[in-house]
Amino acid sequence: MVNDRGAERVRGGHPWIYGTDILGWEPEPPAAAVLTAGVRDRRGHELGTADRSPQSKIQLRMLTREAGATVDRAFLQARLAEALAYRQKLVHDSEAYRLVSSEGDGLPGLIVDRYGDALALQTLSWAMAARQAEIVEDLKALVAPRTIVERNEARVRLQEGLEQRAGLIEGATSTVEVQVNGLRLEMDLLGGQKTGGFLDQRENWKAAAGYAQALGCRKALDVFTYQGGFALHLARAGAAVQAVDSSRTALEVAERNGERNGFPAIDWVEANAFDLLRDYDQRGERFDCLVLDPPAFAKSRAALKTAAAGYKEINLRALKLVAPGGLLVTCSCSHHLSEAHLLEILADAARDARREVRVLERRGQAADHPVVLGFPESAYLKCIVAAVQ
Ligand code: SAH
Repeated sequence: MVNDRGAERVRGGHPWIYGTDILGWEPEPPAAAVLTAGVRDRRGHELGTADRSPQSKIQLRMLTREAGATVDRAFLQARLAEALAYRQKLVHDSEAYRLVSSEGDGLPGLIVDRYGDALALQTLSWAMAARQAEIVEDLKALVAPRTIVERNEARVRLQEGLEQRAGLIEGATSTVEVQVNGLRLEMDLLGGQKTGGFLDQRENWKAAAGYAQALGCRKALDVFTYQGGFALHLARAGAAVQAVDSSRTALEVAERNGERNGFPAIDWVEANAFDLLRDYDQRGERFDCLVLDPPAFAKSRAALKTAAAGYKEINLRALKLVAPGGLLVTCSCSHHLSEAHLLEILADAARDARREVRVLERRGQAADHPVVLGFPESAYLKCIVAAVQ
């Protein structure tokens, strides 16, 4: 039974129930091995069924709001099948996509990324972790993957009382080559960041290149390039590209991706982005198009202030480097930093840089990472496309 605050949150579309909002268990606390629980408000109205996380502050995660629903293996298999059907309708032009996006697909705590015939799996909640072996079998039946890896080293598993681990579950190698937006990209599901690639940026790579082409961008700088997502698309749009990252391993893959796709001239630079932007600013370098896609600076709400200063600094420097009439694509994947806040920071930076900025488009994560209304945590990626005068 949950208190009014918990019930209101659930009714508003939020899937999480904190322990502090639970008034009690009726008729008695569920046995240790029970994965789900029925949820009721104070008046006894049924709110649905949730997965339990006995060790976490988030004690319950809603699976269904249907009264009296049976949550069994068939229920979860149906959810997996729905998730696949949704991607088949919405994802075009990519063999790599997020097949299951946790709460976005009504499967809280479960993330499955598909890279062609390879899957990277994360079970991040207590109940999903308990079902992992079944889920692996169900995924095999659904998409017949050749390779399955688990990337269960995420720190959130500790809050669930789960161990951190990563490895191959099925298959012989974790390295794959997949077609994304017409490019062939190498991804390592075990060795790469996230589960191999930043699939959430896939549509933004294409959009950025479209704008770069429209604005006649000849010289581009991709800052925080990882394995060259934006850089390769900008090169294909006709720009001479320099791309920067602090990770040598990422740049080695990026370089191979460049060669594989016919862009051997991309200049891959291993550097700290903050230092590089400062140097370029001092040297008076100019680019027609500049992409900023930093890692999440704000990992928590408490870190927001320091993070905002970081975003301000790179955006200020970037704005100075963009040639008049050029393009700035600036991203943030911290869900603690709202789009409105990012735009404020950008406006602040524009004032300091004495540049006039027109927002051409405000974008987010690719559609296979659904944003759930009423669940703000599910909207995390912001991508602002702007013309700089
Ligand atoms: N733009 C990429 C994703 C970038 S993720 C894409 O679309 O696929 C963020 C990247 O920033 C990571 O590759 C990480 O190695 C890099 N990074 C983190 N801190 C950095 C720093 N201070 N300077 C340069 N790169 C950094």
